[in-house]
Amino acid sequence: MRPIVIAGNWKMNNDIAQTAELINALKAAKKTSSAAVIVCPPFTSLQAASLLLAGSGIALGAQDVSLHDSGAYTGEVSLAMLKSAGCSYVIVGHSERRQYHGETDAVINQKAKKVLAGGLIPIVCIGETLQEREQGVTATVLTTQTTGVLAGIPAADVEKLIVAYEPVWAIGTGKTATKEQAEEAHRLIRSVIAKLYSSGTAEKVVIQYGGSVKPENAKELLTQKNIDGALVGGACLKADSFLGIINAA
Ligand code: PEP
Repeated sequence: MRPIVIAGNWKMNNDIAQTAELINALKAAKKTSSAAVIVCPPFTSLQAASLLLAGSGIALGAQDVSLHDSGAYTGEVSLAMLKSAGCSYVIVGHSERRQYHGETDAVINQKAKKVLAGGLIPIVCIGETLQEREQGVTATVLTTQTTGVLAGIPAADVEKLIVAYEPVWAIGTGKTATKEQAEEAHRLIRSVIAKLYSSGTAEKVVIQYGGSVKPENAKELLTQKNIDGALVGGACLKADSFLGIINAA
């Protein structure tokens, strides 16, 4: 039985005061839930968030990590730094990193390996663009991305990581994949993992859906057989809507 995992990607939102406000609101209203909950604030808020989250049952994640351990890499943040700030998860390969920072499957694969080697859990993002969906190559794109981002990662580690299927056309657009479209993509990703490893391994991998998830559509998505959680952007910035998604889970 796979857990349900709900992660909030704050992107470049919330300074320290806003971080405290949002986390306190989440803590005050969060009911006991069987879903695992993760928040991923910007780097500058990580340590403050970690202190505020202590004892809350909500885990902390970062939105990216450097491939390098230390040294002359201006603007980058290492895995050891994320660990010392209290993170246990790291999002790697978000479509905005692919689009604005040229991250490829090979880079994302290296980042995922780095996160795993450091004992943290990567949330590895994949997903097709609108053009790719319209051209009918979604299955090919998802197969290539899944194969590329997992290359060389042993089964025991693949079973620990999270894959986030995020169709790029659904991110921040208000257009959600239908539950059928999302389930079809998740089933395909799981079948690719089964071919690369084994069905036993594939059955253990948590695959989140991301793309305009909100309280209104969370339940129908999260009740699909192969959808094990959500990576949430816009709707995680307000305690009410993030809690609505958590409660739907
Ligand atoms: C995201 O950026 O990972 C995301 C899913 O954003 P949104 O929920 O706003 O579509």
